[in-house]
Amino acid sequence: MFCVRIHEHGGLDKLVFEEVRTPVAGPNEVLVRVKATSLNHLDLWVRRGLPGVRFPLPIIPGVDAAGVVQETGPGVTHVAPGDRVVVAQGISCGHCVHCLNGDDNVCKDYKLLGEHRDGADAEFLSVPARNVMKLPDAVSFESAAAGALVFLTAWQMLVDRAQVRPGEVVLVIGASSGVGSAGIQIAQLYGARVIGVTFGKEKAAKARDLGCDEVIDRASQTIAEEVRKLTQKRGVDVVFDHVGKAVWEDCIKSLTKGGRLVTCGATSGYEAVTDLRYVFYKQLRILGSTMGKKGDLLKIITFFEQGKLKPVIDRVMPLKEIREAHRIVEEGRQFGKIVLSL
Ligand code: ZN
Repeated sequence: MFCVRIHEHGGLDKLVFEEVRTPVAGPNEVLVRVKATSLNHLDLWVRRGLPGVRFPLPIIPGVDAAGVVQETGPGVTHVAPGDRVVVAQGISCGHCVHCLNGDDNVCKDYKLLGEHRDGADAEFLSVPARNVMKLPDAVSFESAAAGALVFLTAWQMLVDRAQVRPGEVVLVIGASSGVGSAGIQIAQLYGARVIGVTFGKEKAAKARDLGCDEVIDRASQTIAEEVRKLTQKRGVDVVFDHVGKAVWEDCIKSLTKGGRLVTCGATSGYEAVTDLRYVFYKQLRILGSTMGKKGDLLKIITFFEQGKLKPVIDRVMPLKEIREAHRIVEEGRQFGKIVLSL
């Protein structure tokens, strides 16, 4: 089969196109013909390498996948060849205390497609059957591939970790990113007022179109100052962040007493400074989050089907243009997700 593989870390030229043996569906596994995948920030880390992290090279990157069941292994009963499906990205042991309690993404053996094992930037992908979910006809392969990881991530951050409630004010940092656009929609689904933070006039206008009640443009405004103005000095109940260092101090200052900051990433750097006086005096909670529970993906797909949540797609490109796609994400030129189609 045709695929993209990384043999060594580095620049765009390390995304190599090649033919490899097509995987097979073993017992309790499903072979999926990939129709669409999408680019996540993780793909950049896997390509470039991260200090102190060892990726299993060579690896096929790509964490999101939607497609059609090509073949089912022995023991698989819930899907059949020809079914349209979306693939849950996390693979866990299935028998530890976390897996049995439904917290599969806390499993010590939790592994992600495209990070710890071969991913979706290929014609075919073989995964455990419990990672394969039927996709309703109303949800396109492109939407499913664009939305699965970012909505799952944003869902756990807001619903499980920060426990957002109706009437609260949520500050969504990085509103133009995939996870940010998901955060805006989920916060609104839960009845919150959303202040989006983005960079530049064009992205600010798009964030408004997406439904942000207010938008702060980091190119010309200071987050903490604007939050003070917009909330009559009160501050926000929840900060939703994945940018890290560049905005962290402003995020802490923007919270009201008893506020919660939930973070799933640090795309601008992880060595952020926290003024602890704010943390204890305002009784803040700082919550970490990564990925989400597989079961929540089923709920999210239903919201996609109903049109209540909509994955934001910047553009769809053929997989063969993956180097250009990486370049666009690296330069932050996209609004929402870049989908790669096969
Ligand atoms: Zn487990």
